[in-house]
Amino acid sequence: MRALTVAPGIANSARLDDVLEPPTSDGAVLVKTLALGVCGTDREIVSGAYGWAPPGEERLVIGHESLGRVREAPAGCGVAAGDLVVGIVRRPDPVPCPSCAVGEWDMCRNGRYTERGIKERNGYGSDFFRIEPDFLVKLDPALGINGVLVEPTSVVAKAWDHTERIGGRARAWQPNTLLVTGAGPIGLLAALLGAQRGLDVHVLDHNDRGPKRKIVRELGATFHLGEIPDLGSFKPDILMECTGAAPVVRDAIGRTASAGIVCLLGVSAPGRALTLDIGDVNRTIVLGNDTVFGSVNANREHYEDAVAALQRADQSWLDSLITRHVGVERWTHSLVQQPGDIKVIVDFS
Ligand code: BGC
Repeated sequence: MRALTVAPGIANSARLDDVLEPPTSDGAVLVKTLALGVCGTDREIVSGAYGWAPPGEERLVIGHESLGRVREAPAGCGVAAGDLVVGIVRRPDPVPCPSCAVGEWDMCRNGRYTERGIKERNGYGSDFFRIEPDFLVKLDPALGINGVLVEPTSVVAKAWDHTERIGGRARAWQPNTLLVTGAGPIGLLAALLGAQRGLDVHVLDHNDRGPKRKIVRELGATFHLGEIPDLGSFKPDILMECTGAAPVVRDAIGRTASAGIVCLLGVSAPGRALTLDIGDVNRTIVLGNDTVFGSVNANREHYEDAVAALQRADQSWLDSLITRHVGVERWTHSLVQQPGDIKVIVDFS
């Protein structure tokens, strides 16, 4: 079968390979891949800066934003042939740590978790993949191709879950405004979940190429072009930082209203030192009871929240997030970002 592979640690090693059928050790359910979403993490792996092959192997089958249809499944396992499904990315560490032991592998404490298509486990970027039934999420067929957005939405659903739990430390906390920095897929999905919560949503981006501005407006939210200081005195109750760009992260910290929450969701490259008045930031955060926290990955509950949020969304709005489909044979083209791209998918159908 065809598989999208890379040699982690080596830049530009991406290619289309012919590999053996997935081993039964990957799980009892056989899934036919329909589509695969490509994200910044995949581009980082292909650049050689991130990612790990399975132990003893040189190459990794990439791909963690899956969408497929069950081909074979053991009777009574929760899914059946024909079901539309998405695979969960992370697997608990083998110890397991206290978090992995209770199914919160997204909060793994010892870093020995594995991730399909990213860390020590082959991903979903092949004509077929096998998976354990417990790590499959079944979708309503009505979601169709938009099911490929479940994994990035699960990351955002976790961010919302934790934001609301942090907010709940003050009994009367009631957020009204949300600022999202970065109108990429994660930012727009964070904005969607904010709009579904009835918040006054603002999305900031440093460019408005492509349909971003229109997509934000269609959500009933406000699009801002520029940088955080351009927002003047606006101080949101919640700020979701989705760019990972060092200057934006610096400007985000301490930028909320009192009891505000900054959730950092973008992974940045180290090596960029910026000036920050720590005394001022500390004073703002302490006197405001503010919180700044990071969030990564998602557990099963967040995938289920994500499916519910996507099912509630306007399907044509979701369609507009998928701006480019690339065929498997040309999959490396999906890695080169083009102006106006939001979510690019590799089409296996
Ligand atoms: C994935 C997460 C993963 C993270 C770090 C993200 O792109 O969506 O599931 O935990 O990368 O590897």
